[in-house]
Amino acid sequence: MSEKRCIICNKPYNYNYKMFGRSCLDNMYELLGFRKPFRILNKENYLCTKIAWRNHKFFLNKNKKYELAKKYIALSYLNKMNYNSLDDIKDKIKNDINGISIFSKVIKNSIVFSLNEIYKLYNYSQKFDNLIKELQSLDWEKIDKETAKNFIKNFSFIFDVTKKTSPISYVVFYSMQYIFWKIVIVGGILTSKPLSARLLSNSLTLFGKEPKNLDINDEKTLNDIKDDALFKKKIKELIEEYGKEKGRFNIKDYEKDGILIKFEKGDLLYALHDATMFANAEKNDNNTWNLEIEINDTYDFTDFKELKEYADKEDSILTDIFSTLLNNFGVVSSEYGVIKKYDIKIKFDLNNYVVEY
Ligand SMILES: [Zn+2]
Repeated sequence: MSEKRCIICNKPYNYNYKMFGRSCLDNMYELLGFRKPFRILNKENYLCTKIAWRNHKFFLNKNKKYELAKKYIALSYLNKMNYNSLDDIKDKIKNDINGISIFSKVIKNSIVFSLNEIYKLYNYSQKFDNLIKELQSLDWEKIDKETAKNFIKNFSFIFDVTKKTSPISYVVFYSMQYIFWKIVIVGGILTSKPLSARLLSNSLTLFGKEPKNLDINDEKTLNDIKDDALFKKKIKELIEEYGKEKGRFNIKDYEKDGILIKFEKGDLLYALHDATMFANAEKNDNNTWNLEIEINDTYDFTDFKELKEYADKEDSILTDIFSTLLNNFGVVSSEYGVIKKYDIKIKFDLNNYVVEY
């Protein structure tokens, strides 16, 4: 006789039951809220009968009853995971359950799964929920960066590309990653970097959606750009290279030299690290300049790698987190489609601009 394995935990058991080992059977009673009977000998069969009754299905043959039980248990685990993006899958399982009757000839499996897979997913999501709860006790403004790094490392298990292959685990891992970026990074580690938080947030797409391109024109960001030392240096360089002779120039060509722009300060550097800058400029009589500036970038979370050489000391561990750990997470989330690319445009004018020497 071949060895029997529990269809929930996959451990071998030598009990008389068809599906579950003894402790998993107990867990199923608890999960579904049924009281375990004392006097009935086959408690597995009894559980399946109770499940059928709860679904208003009577006199099912044993095979139908057991198949119904598997689907219902799967559905119960999925309900406990509480991710909206599972709704579509849950609906399909519900339909399959509704289709089981004493008259049905075949049992439909619109979604293929094993209970062992669902059980493991449930355990992953429990582990994830506990980490998210732990997060609430952290103060991101005060936390030392080494602690932050170790905390973030704990989430590595949700960035597993191999989980993309089955439809249910794809959705569960997608949902966990989405929540991770939204809560741990946007609402946590990037709290003091509002532009970076906003750009990452816009990149996060709900299941099955696409991100919109973004025009940035809030006053704070524009002022930060105007105050940035590397930005000022860039304008000076462009004026010296293209404007000295004629007193006017219009750079709007991606082939043009010198249009790549990096920023000096933390938030801008994290937010826009591969941007280009166009400028339409005209010199005034009093030696000042009027400029129309257009900065363009494609948001891509996976190009933090080169950030290290630019960041200031104060942010060095944060930069380390972004250029290694989070960069790798970002690559996985891009493959899942949780993080998507989109275009950013920032347009503003500088009037009577004085070039500093
Ligand atoms: Zn088991």
